[in-house]
Amino acid sequence: MATIEEVEQARSRIQNIIHNTPIVHSRLLQEKWGRRVFFKVEHLQKTGSFKIRGAANAVTNAVSDGAKLVTAASSGNHGQAVAYVANELGIASVIAVPTDASPAKVAAIKAYGGQVEYCGTTSAERIPYAVSLAQQQGGVYIPPYDHRDVIAGQGTAGLEIIEQMTDVDVIVVPVGGGGLISGILTAVKAQRPDVLVIGAEPALANDTALSLERGEITAIGPTETIADGLRTTQPGDLTFPIVSELLDGLVLVEEEEIIEAMRDIAVRMKQLVEPSGAVAAAAVMSGKAGGPDQTIVAVISGGNVDLPRFASLMNTAEKE
Ligand SMILES: *Cc1c(COP(=O)(O)O)cnc(C)c1O
Repeated sequence: MATIEEVEQARSRIQNIIHNTPIVHSRLLQEKWGRRVFFKVEHLQKTGSFKIRGAANAVTNAVSDGAKLVTAASSGNHGQAVAYVANELGIASVIAVPTDASPAKVAAIKAYGGQVEYCGTTSAERIPYAVSLAQQQGGVYIPPYDHRDVIAGQGTAGLEIIEQMTDVDVIVVPVGGGGLISGILTAVKAQRPDVLVIGAEPALANDTALSLERGEITAIGPTETIADGLRTTQPGDLTFPIVSELLDGLVLVEEEEIIEAMRDIAVRMKQLVEPSGAVAAAAVMSGKAGGPDQTIVAVISGGNVDLPRFASLMNTAEKE
């Protein structure tokens, strides 16, 4: 299991690459939701999501070990983060993306200096490709969540939260493969075991909820939740033991709740967040995570949504 020492090391390793993002508050939202809620705004992080924390830690370690190339298998936030960090550290990156990847995402990876390779439509095709490419060229494959360095890097967000908000009672975190919440659990439970950490998953991608219920890693079928960063179909081999040992609770949110939270955040806080980024906020908004007497920090994990998509989601939201 990743340790608090690894999270501390990650922090000193990545501090010159990432932002220490602020925690923001909106009185209007607090009133509307009836919760004393604050937001750790990782959509304002470099590359638009927290994924750069884990990527920066893992790629820095690969470079220390002499790597001149890193690979990843993601057209989303992880792919962008790996491309950005590799470029910052002066090495090459190859990012394997599905043949139907959105042009905007591909353009972002290229803009960050990554080389894009199209490969199949499923991660089952993409991951072995990225792994073998790394092997052939003496590079290192960087997984999106199931890796000690990635978990430790994501944990730096947890360290920041407990330093920035010493009176926090509950931290609410979105759960995909579980890298972010495992890192936050590792940091927070070591330093502030009294602080509750609650995970939030879309009901349409409830693989971690099911796995916790059954006490073992359980896969679900492919899912179409609008929270595309949370479409992983099972928790990781490294993340699940951390989650099952340390997590205080897991709640499920509906698709309409995610859209509603995105809309409230846009209208009241003037912030543009992606569906995955609004899942923890949706859990607070719906009253499922955090009580009226608690000080809550919800992690807004990312903001990478293009405007036409944002607009079409807003058109389906209930009008105020
Ligand atoms: C990857 C991602 C998540 C989920 O993180 P995991 O470490 O896979 O649990 C949540 N939100 C956004 C915006 C992401 O990119």
